[in-house]
Amino acid sequence: MKVDSIVIVGGGTAGYLTALCIDKLLPHIKLTLIESPNIPIIGVGEATTPKIMYVLHDILGVDIAEFHAKVAPTWKLGIKFLWGPPEKEFFNLPFGHMEPIHAHFLTGDINNSSIVSNLMSNDLSPVIVDETGNAKMISNRSFAYHIDNKNFVSFLKGLLKDSNVEYIQGEIESTQKNEQGIKELITTSGQSLTADLFIDCSGFHSILLGKSLETEYISYKSSLFTDSAVTATLDNNGFVKPYTSAITMNSGWMWNIPLNDHDHLGYVYSSKYCGREGAIEEILKMHPSAEINPHTVTFKSGRYKSFIYQNVVGIGNAYGFVEPLESTGLHMICFEILELMKVLKEGTITKKHKEQLDQLIGNQWDMLRWFLAIHYKFNTKIDSPFWHDCRSKVNISGVEQYLDHFMNFGPISFAKKNKIHHELSFDPIFSPVGFDAILLGQNVIPQWEEGMLSDSEVNYFNLGHTANKAFMQQAIPMDEALEIAAKKTDLISLKGWFDHHNH
Ligand code: FAD
Repeated sequence: MKVDSIVIVGGGTAGYLTALCIDKLLPHIKLTLIESPNIPIIGVGEATTPKIMYVLHDILGVDIAEFHAKVAPTWKLGIKFLWGPPEKEFFNLPFGHMEPIHAHFLTGDINNSSIVSNLMSNDLSPVIVDETGNAKMISNRSFAYHIDNKNFVSFLKGLLKDSNVEYIQGEIESTQKNEQGIKELITTSGQSLTADLFIDCSGFHSILLGKSLETEYISYKSSLFTDSAVTATLDNNGFVKPYTSAITMNSGWMWNIPLNDHDHLGYVYSSKYCGREGAIEEILKMHPSAEINPHTVTFKSGRYKSFIYQNVVGIGNAYGFVEPLESTGLHMICFEILELMKVLKEGTITKKHKEQLDQLIGNQWDMLRWFLAIHYKFNTKIDSPFWHDCRSKVNISGVEQYLDHFMNFGPISFAKKNKIHHELSFDPIFSPVGFDAILLGQNVIPQWEEGMLSDSEVNYFNLGHTANKAFMQQAIPMDEALEIAAKKTDLISLKGWFDHHNH
């Protein structure tokens, strides 16, 4: 299939980011984006991963200072899990290089896995101020943004106005099909839209991949039981935590996403175990002054079998979704766009491209399913009907072989070193070392023998650990760092940033 023209359906983060990236890198393609004025965006999607930095600042060339001025993001160093055994308050999953196994076996605390994790434990930013008052960032710039989703989407809409993308406000009512897939889209006002390729970014409506083409859907509900979220805001008096928190609740968990003057909260629960009223009661018990938002967000975890089916591609929630415990929504949108663009660059989408992308993107989503499932299987923080059922019923069949390896031979991240083959993704975040960290954080300890770490590995880790402690003496709190960043625009320099991230 030769691709000279594309229609994108949907104006959420998926639609806008897809349109902007294709317009920037493949300007010869005629692009149209249509979004309904009546169907709102989902409006949640606020904790990100470092992949968004690459897409925003490197591909789209968004100026960092302008982004800070218009969207007012805060910086996220990772996720703090109030999760795992009751006797341990929390464990961190930091961005960037981490050594949870070394930290556990050499210091007795997984939270010493990296400088970023140490900063998280102490509520500090990655900015240090030296004796002369000069502020600078740590060299390993491992962070992402917390953003208000609606502000972010408005910002992207502004960028779209300055692009070559044709923008239409309208709602797709029906489709005409032919043997290639979609022949035309017809709006409620009778307008007809045709293109070589259609990208479905219509969110959970999935109007092309799901509704029109009726492609097969793979549900993750045997592994991920949650299906609803009640959201709220909470004044934070300017105290900005440098991480997203994931807090174990009776029937699920609650996110806490710190923005500049308030935190966004969201209790993600399973409607089989709790209703909206019960969820609100639990939030207010923890935070009596929280302001509860009026709508309940409902969702399902799963994906369509095909990423590309006939002449339709699905990006964002229209293709797949896993519940937001690991902030994977925007991460996967970026991943999907980048992979699609590699193929579009060739000008023609072949059957082989379709098969390769279906497998690559599908496997990545399935891996996230299993990664999230082990968070549920081994969390012993609370004894409630929901958590009891998670521990006994969550389906982790896709990673059982790796758990066997972990229990019988040692950490999953050591498998390669021990020349044992595994098929886990090397996504820099949801990687074998990420699996090790989530298991260790929940007190699931791998098989361990003397000599698994060489003397030089032990020395290297110990030196780093000592240096980290010294560094922390100079690091400043996040609200102060953000204030400096607003004035000193070269504080976050892009130089060297992307070398740190294997995108
Ligand atoms: P939407 O935002 O729903 O946009 C859909 C668009 O399609 C809208 O513009 C709508 O008007 C349009 N549309 C629909 N039907 C039609 C039609 N018939 N005709 C024309 N236009 C149409 N992700 C993260 O990265 N971090 C998080 O912290 C996070 N938290 C989440 C929490 C919850 C509870 C949920 C459910 C999701 C969360 N996500 C998170 C995922 C996040 O929602 C998505 O990744 C992201 O917002 C992308 O949404 P989207 O663009 O696919 O869909």
